[in-house]
Amino acid sequence: MFKKILIANRGEIALRIQRACREMGIKSVVVYSEADREAKYVKLADEAVCIGPAPSAQSYLHMPAIISTAEVTDAEAIHPGYGFLSENADFAERVEKSGFVFIGPTPESIRIMGDKVSAKQAMIKSGVPCVPGSEGALPEDPKEIIRIGRSVGYPVIIKAAGGGGGRGMRVVHTEAALIHAVQTTRAEAGAAFGNPSVYMEKFLENPRHVEIQVLADGQRGAVWLGERDCSMQRRHQKVIEEAPAPGIPRRVIEKIGDRCTAACLKIGYRGAGTFEFLYENGEFYFIEMNTRVQVEHPVTELVTGIDIVQMQIRIAAGQKLPFNQRAIQLKGHAIECRVNAEHPYTFVPSPGRITMWHSPGGPGVRVDSHAYTNYTVPPNYDSMIGKIIVYGDTREQALARMRTALSETVVEGIQTNIPLHRELMVDSGFCAGGTSIHYLEKWLAQRKK
Ligand code: ADP
Repeated sequence: MFKKILIANRGEIALRIQRACREMGIKSVVVYSEADREAKYVKLADEAVCIGPAPSAQSYLHMPAIISTAEVTDAEAIHPGYGFLSENADFAERVEKSGFVFIGPTPESIRIMGDKVSAKQAMIKSGVPCVPGSEGALPEDPKEIIRIGRSVGYPVIIKAAGGGGGRGMRVVHTEAALIHAVQTTRAEAGAAFGNPSVYMEKFLENPRHVEIQVLADGQRGAVWLGERDCSMQRRHQKVIEEAPAPGIPRRVIEKIGDRCTAACLKIGYRGAGTFEFLYENGEFYFIEMNTRVQVEHPVTELVTGIDIVQMQIRIAAGQKLPFNQRAIQLKGHAIECRVNAEHPYTFVPSPGRITMWHSPGGPGVRVDSHAYTNYTVPPNYDSMIGKIIVYGDTREQALARMRTALSETVVEGIQTNIPLHRELMVDSGFCAGGTSIHYLEKWLAQRKK
């Protein structure tokens, strides 16, 4: 096992990885930007090294600074967390070429899955069902694009091959709007992701977002750890996640879960990963694979009892999975609310000093957050400042615990979306379970009236 790991991230996930290291008796090196100098997890780290100014490009995305910090601190492995460099194949490659272990899949796997067109092709080959659409990237010829649009059938969605974070997508309802939409998405994708390649999918009208968590050791061991329902989204960004997905028959989930582990074996996948699907009318359609730990991983940890971050570290150290599929038992229900520093009605980011932070507690409550009283949320990064996660024997108990947890939570000095979560936890639609990916947007539109 490693003696020392460098954590190439910030915020709650840096703290989450640090905790996993502590529990495993591994020392951790935290890299931080000038904006995160005062963060408590930075102060509590075994070692902490400032790698640059606040802008991510000069700190958390600055590969030479991170790799040279690993060199001077004698770290053996680098955990990239999520976001930043976590799905950057060049970074994974540079880490390994410099003699460190990248805690994640091989650069090759990251590269294939990072391009949604090649990811879909790999999935089709592995027998994972995909959303119907163009075979590969769209060609240049407008006539050809029109033809593909007709064969897929409207509405369609134009998506950037290199897209992520809910950006680089455009829904098209009529043939008249198609060419312009393709051109605009191409231009945007070129500017935002450095890859103008786009593809077309059938736009599913009322699907749910259901994803499968996998762990694979790259040594013929692969398991899936149940599913997560992440349908509560705003602007394609997840707001609430839960496990299991309400109301989907277990045999349907089991079938898709087994397909995912089979695909892992087929592509030689190593590490933790997530197969994201849209689920509509009893069918699963693959949309993309994330080759990293996800924000919502705790709900899976609570229903399986498996520490996903520790498993990532064990797999990276060359260990085989200590369990097979039969040993994975799903128990109870877990719900996660993402706490964002933003206005609960306008969603305008609200960085600044937290004058009062009081976390909830009690049975079945977990809070993953680096925030505390007097912590200043920097304006430079994502607005998520933590996650409240609850566990219950049933979904009803989990909902009741989340209501209690949210009622106990106090955050003053900045705005947060906690009032939104409080409303959603008593909303009849959400409480009934099984809402579609459009539910929250529609709900928000009505709420404004
Ligand atoms: P990203 O990498 O940016 O997260 P995804 O491909 O995972 O992009 O899609 C994000 C979200 O966009 C999905 O959860 C869903 O809400 C919506 N979406 C993507 N593809 C489709 C589709 N074919 N039909 C309907 N909605 C879609």
